[in-house]
Amino acid sequence: MFGLTFTSLGPMLPPAPPIRRVILVVLDGLRADAVARHGLIHLPALARCGRWTLSGRTVTPSITAAALTSVMTGAPPSVHGLRDDRFRIPRLNLPLLPGLLRDRGLPTFGYMAKVPLAHWAVATAIARHLGCKARFEGDGAADILEAARPALLGEPDGLFFLHWPDADRAGHAHGWHSPEYGHAARTLDRALGNLATTARVLDDPSTLLIAFADHGGGGLKADDHESDHPEDTTIPMVIAGGAVRPGQLEQPISLLDVPATALWALGIERPASFAGRPLTEAFHQVAAEVPASAPVAQPAQAA
Ligand SMILES: [Zn+2]
Repeated sequence: MFGLTFTSLGPMLPPAPPIRRVILVVLDGLRADAVARHGLIHLPALARCGRWTLSGRTVTPSITAAALTSVMTGAPPSVHGLRDDRFRIPRLNLPLLPGLLRDRGLPTFGYMAKVPLAHWAVATAIARHLGCKARFEGDGAADILEAARPALLGEPDGLFFLHWPDADRAGHAHGWHSPEYGHAARTLDRALGNLATTARVLDDPSTLLIAFADHGGGGLKADDHESDHPEDTTIPMVIAGGAVRPGQLEQPISLLDVPATALWALGIERPASFAGRPLTEAFHQVAAEVPASAPVAQPAQAA
């Protein structure tokens, strides 16, 4: 049982930039090397304007249910206990990302592919437990983005969580090195470019986008991703937004750093169960720490 203890934000962490909205987009099963191998355009363009790595690591086991539960709890699977591919509500009483936002009056919006009718009740129950306004709509990234578009245009605050299944689905059906997988990777890439434009990610210092994969694939088995093989565990990650300082992320980078960074960016204290590290080096320092030669316009500091 976890009490709600908090890590000390302490003097070591710089103040967060004035970010009001964090968009997390899960590029399910997108291998880091798919960027070059399959000719992705938008992800590297976003990376050039933001902070990025092609050498991040997901959690163990390298499966979606475990990884997404880690995003929501900030904790590794050894703590949250969800270590197989059956989605359910975590047993432990861990603080959840949407609940921590809600305590600060901030909403969470979730957008995922439609689920079979038989699973709809459990999917909506999980979303409700998470404290998330969730929509299960469409088959892939393009449809899911369309479902999210009105809120992306109209809601300036809170957390957006989008899960795009295209590449993982093609990897299981045809293999992670197949032409079909490459096609799905480019579909994700186009949707990512579209998302960045829709949410005005690059010219809005109050919006932060973190795009990342939950696992790779084709490491141990051509059509799966559950192993410790580097091709299964290595993930790409791009952090973009008007408050982000361009460059490469300093290793090591973990999937667990995503929820830690989201909380820090929104100025929310991090519970001790959030095991990751806020990637503060990805941001322009606020106040006096701003370097004079910084290449991107500085966000104004809140009074
Ligand atoms: Zn999968």
